[in-house]
Amino acid sequence: MSKVSIVRCGSYDPGEVRRAVASAVAPLGGMRAFVRPGARVLLKPNLLIPAAPERAITTHPAVVEAVIGLVREAGGEPFIADSPGGPLHNRLGMAALFRHSGLSEVARRTGVRLRAEPDSIQVPTPGGQLLKRLDLLASWREADVVVSLPKLKTHNLTLISGALKNPFGLVPGLAKPGYHAKLADIDQFCDMLLDVVACVRPVLTIMDGVLAMEGDGPSTGGLPRALGLILASPDPTALDAVVCRVIGVDPGGLALFRAAERRGWWPVDIALEGVPLEEAAARNFRLPAARRAARPVRGKRWVSRFMTRALTPRPVPRRDRCTACGDCARMCPRDAIAVAGPAAVVDDERCIRCYCCHEICPEAAVGLRFSPLGRLLRLAGLM
Ligand code: SF4
Ligand code: SF4
Repeated sequence: MSKVSIVRCGSYDPGEVRRAVASAVAPLGGMRAFVRPGARVLLKPNLLIPAAPERAITTHPAVVEAVIGLVREAGGEPFIADSPGGPLHNRLGMAALFRHSGLSEVARRTGVRLRAEPDSIQVPTPGGQLLKRLDLLASWREADVVVSLPKLKTHNLTLISGALKNPFGLVPGLAKPGYHAKLADIDQFCDMLLDVVACVRPVLTIMDGVLAMEGDGPSTGGLPRALGLILASPDPTALDAVVCRVIGVDPGGLALFRAAERRGWWPVDIALEGVPLEEAAARNFRLPAARRAARPVRGKRWVSRFMTRALTPRPVPRRDRCTACGDCARMCPRDAIAVAGPAAVVDDERCIRCYCCHEICPEAAVGLRFSPLGRLLRLAGLM
């Protein structure tokens, strides 16, 4: 039986967040159940790109600060580490990330260490079903335990970006698109995400769903949506399953949960604590346009390729917004983007619809465009 707790938190007022986070962790045994005195605790927020907290792209600093307090009360020594999307993974990029996300301010107030070193290590993945070795931030090895702090967001590739996806952030910047390139199939990609979870082994996940993200998440294409929730669980699969229920999605339809089922993590019995699911449920929560994870296309290779292209939107940089910064081209795992003129251009033949470009673009300039067949099916409400 996996426990998941849901607590109401109506704002990012520091006192309210502290109480909500403590209430979410209390029924799980409190922070002392996960952090022993003297333990070095890696706090892993979602810091995808440098963005202000009100854009709902990154874990809110008030949630991170509340967890720092709880870890210290339990006698642990917290530090913060994450790696953003590809080209930002350097000291300058990390400094911008910490500054914009509000964590520099948290570090100033609390004295917590922000780990900006881009050093990486290769580690074996015991029990890994797809990967035998994994690239991770070197600071992961210094931790006795990891506490994962995801943001509740939609995701154009995996449909949700939450507890099961957050540990992937510890894979260093430009190594991430490498995994996308090697694992273009959504089921394989999700198997890899779960190998990362099994390797990183977060002992506890505390999710920021106060201001969540709906629509074309997880980055500048998504829209903030106030849900007023903090969720927590030691079991990231159970936590994401509850998130699915909150946003009106059947977890069984997602590639993430098919992958979890293949390794015996799903289905699980869930004991809910706190706010009942029917009260936490969000009405008319907007899902991402692409939803590849919910709609894998199977069959012969050419059929699968044709249908994937017909049913999933292709990335199209908007000339009116693109500043030709080149971040998307550096992130693209298939070298499918050229920035030779005033705006980026995507070679659709090479594109594998991973949406890394959509995720990384600081200008929200990468639009998603369906084929005529896709538009027709959407108009008819068939997808
Ligand atoms: S689409 Fe976005 S990331 Fe790519 S070059 Fe233009 S502004 Fe930069
Ligand atoms: S163009 Fe965008 S969606 Fe296509 S492979 Fe490159 S990063 Fe992925």
